[in-house]
Amino acid sequence: MSNIEQYANPQILDLVAYEPGKPIEETARELGMAPEDIVKLASNENPLGPSPKAVQAMCQAASQANIYPDGAAFRLRTAIANRYQVDFNQTIVGSGSSEIIELVGHAFLNRDAEVVAAEHAFSMYPIMSKLFGARYVQVPNKPDWSHDLKGFLDAITDKTRVVFITNPTNPLGTIVSQQEIDDFMAHVPNHVVVCFDEAYHEFSDQPADTVKFVRDGRQVVVLKTFSKVYGLAGLRIGFGLAPQSLCTLLHKCRTPFNAHLLAQEAALAALDDQDHIRKTIENNNAEMTRYEEAFRSMNLEWIPSHANFVLVKVGHGRDVFQALLKRGVITRAQGGYGLPEWLRISIGTPKENIRCIDMLREVLAQ
Ligand SMILES: *Cc1c(COP(=O)(O)O)cnc(C)c1O
Repeated sequence: MSNIEQYANPQILDLVAYEPGKPIEETARELGMAPEDIVKLASNENPLGPSPKAVQAMCQAASQANIYPDGAAFRLRTAIANRYQVDFNQTIVGSGSSEIIELVGHAFLNRDAEVVAAEHAFSMYPIMSKLFGARYVQVPNKPDWSHDLKGFLDAITDKTRVVFITNPTNPLGTIVSQQEIDDFMAHVPNHVVVCFDEAYHEFSDQPADTVKFVRDGRQVVVLKTFSKVYGLAGLRIGFGLAPQSLCTLLHKCRTPFNAHLLAQEAALAALDDQDHIRKTIENNNAEMTRYEEAFRSMNLEWIPSHANFVLVKVGHGRDVFQALLKRGVITRAQGGYGLPEWLRISIGTPKENIRCIDMLREVLAQ
């Protein structure tokens, strides 16, 4: 047998693949429980389900599944452009915003490039950096766990091509202010593409405006997704906003039909479902308060979150994760993010959260 690794791209040999939240069916199988009895609070999905309008749009489109989707995603991109007051040519859709991150890698990263991001940032950034052989530079957070954008500026070198600013950030849930972003943008050099990852933007009560940099023709990509507030994680659809010249480069890197037919139709319907978005945010705000009160009563430290999840310090994160898992509650241990004492809990429905809190109390009392 030949050793196939010797022929592979060297930078991928020690790449550690993304570890997703544990699936409900797998957990049910392992525990011998019914899938309905498992609570998954591990992947920041929308606990209220997909937008009902999106489901209806998919059902209508299903009979056209024999036809290739519109590779230019004309209707969806037009709606996105209208929503964000940008030009059609400043939009791109992808198979989740993860794909847009990959396209940025295709366009700008190689073995001479460097990427700058915050410590404990979304693991797709180091994975994508590594995939393209780029050096991944992490900037320590401020004491309140938010991005240190001054530290970002210090970390930028002549080789830096891409910077990731996650706002709100995952898994920490902290935000950076408009002022911090404006100061950063006033000083960032021109050879750097700034990616504002705004997967949780809608959950924040202090959302910063970064789309203005797209309109101003700055070297930015604003990343958005239908996976979180819109409730369409299973469809894999997200989008990016960037000045036309930059956006054109990203379009060159994508496959022709990267956003599939049902996903495009569902996203188009979900974009306008204000009712579903409002209910989702209301549930999130109310249930976040439930967790904060529970943590306070259990004397647990947590990081105040502007997103749809919360990070809580439980001691040995992996053990508590396992103990909760045995009780049918899937959360997310954070060892892989360099936070072994912490657990990330996605905000669910009232019923799911009550169960999670009860089980957490039981586990920590032991
Ligand atoms: C969930 C998430 C995304 C969105 O991922 P999709 O590929 O669109 O599902 C992007 N960035 C961060 C930080 C996230 O947590």
